[in-house]
Amino acid sequence: MDFLIMEKIFENILIYSLAAILCIVALVVYLRKKSKESKIVDEKIKKAKEDGLFEPVSLHPYIDVNRCIQTGACITACPEHDIIGIRNGKATIINASQCVGHGACFHACPTEAISLRIGTEKRGVDLPHLNQNFETNVPGIFIAGELGGMGLVKNAVEQGKQATENIVKSIKKNHQASYDVIIIGAGPAGISACLTAKKHDLKFLFLEQDTLGGAVFTFPRKKIVMTSPMDLPLFGKIKLFETSKSELLDLWQTVLKKNSITVQENSKVDSIVSEDGIFKVATLKGEQATSARILLAIGRRGSPRKLNIPGEMKEKVAYRLLEPEGISGKDIIVVGGGDSAIESALLLADENHVILSYRNEVFNRLKPKNSMALNTAMEAGKLEVRLNTNLITIEDDSITLSVGKEGENIKLRNDLVYIFAGGELPTQFLEKAGIKIEKKFGETVLKH
Ligand SMILES: Cc1cc2nc3c(=O)[nH]c(=O)nc-3n(C[C@H](O)[C@H](O)[C@H](O)COP(=O)(O)OP(=O)(O)OC[C@H]3O[C@@H](n4cnc5c(N)ncnc54)[C@H](O)[C@@H]3O)c2cc1C
Repeated sequence: MDFLIMEKIFENILIYSLAAILCIVALVVYLRKKSKESKIVDEKIKKAKEDGLFEPVSLHPYIDVNRCIQTGACITACPEHDIIGIRNGKATIINASQCVGHGACFHACPTEAISLRIGTEKRGVDLPHLNQNFETNVPGIFIAGELGGMGLVKNAVEQGKQATENIVKSIKKNHQASYDVIIIGAGPAGISACLTAKKHDLKFLFLEQDTLGGAVFTFPRKKIVMTSPMDLPLFGKIKLFETSKSELLDLWQTVLKKNSITVQENSKVDSIVSEDGIFKVATLKGEQATSARILLAIGRRGSPRKLNIPGEMKEKVAYRLLEPEGISGKDIIVVGGGDSAIESALLLADENHVILSYRNEVFNRLKPKNSMALNTAMEAGKLEVRLNTNLITIEDDSITLSVGKEGENIKLRNDLVYIFAGGELPTQFLEKAGIKIEKKFGETVLKH
């Protein structure tokens, strides 16, 4: 009997010990896996810091680590790649500067651990001050879309509509100006504003420095645009989640045409002056108009920075690459050291002789994918990279580069010039109109 009890006890001890060992093994395997994953994320963060991609430049997720329970829902939801990772059991930022502000992580997190912030303690972002009606400190000048700090097509559409609704409420019937409102910028915010103005029978002028579409027009042809359903005035609900650049542009063109709205393209607004409650708007081409209200929907990408060198006005010079497929057998120079310059040079190098000229000694702040593709193309002799060079003159069938600090000049055959020297933020333009700009250091713009 005693023996049987002993045997039973021994059997139980064995079973429990085995179960405990199994649990410990499973725990060790799990912890090892997590530790390995954390190390990979550590490496990615290190690389992001080296490449200058760790610090956010605009809107980005901010993670409250006390609330994060590492579900990974934020990572799954993010349409971009490696913006967030899990390290030591908590979500953490990796390539924050690559975030375009979709906010999918914000909505996906089940514990509401994510908020969206603009700027950081170290790097401030210039933003105009707006009240809840989207009006600036200059009464009568309103702002909608990304210029106000909130990116994305859907947000721009919504704000364009709301800002114009507020303009409708504030406008006096018997003003002396030629227009009720001048809408500046034909991106998603401006398009939505025009449709709202039309719906309310306002007399308006729609000005665009470039072409209809705003930032979307400059996307590569094959880019997938991620969006969520939105309500477009005079059209109704657009139930899109993933669309293409051309589908979105076609939609806008159709809606504007249907409502007989024309955008005055190639009309860059240069100044807005307020006189006795009426605004005088002047374009670079010298056209002038007066209006009772102004809606600025000019985004945050500004205008392409010019090099201000002889020959820059020639037709062969461009500041963006839209249709690389149609260009072949040409001698091309691409100027710049950022992602846009590298992506364009690589696209053109398939069918052309391309020189990439960059004024610095090394490329930094490049997306890892672009950095790798650039190295591969250079090794394969597909692309000629000239570091430490400056483009100094552009002639009809040649260009001149100065090399290094000594400034030795070399003349090269050339058919086309693409300049990607960044954009000039519209800060000066806004300040000239009297709009106050504040630097935001890590301000929360969306929270639960
Ligand atoms: C690479 C990249 C990828 C993105 N991907 C997505 C995505 O997948 N989904 C998404 O929802 N959003 C995406 N975005 C963000 C989205 O494109 C912008 O948030 C949105 O276009 C902002 O709209 P907006 O009307 O405020 O400004 P914009 O689209 O920037 O339009 C502003 C317009 O104003 C014009 N303008 C500027 N100054 C003047 C002037 N002085 N006079 C006359 N006209 C002027 C400009 O030429 C421009 O056409 C992406 C952005 C980038 C850069």
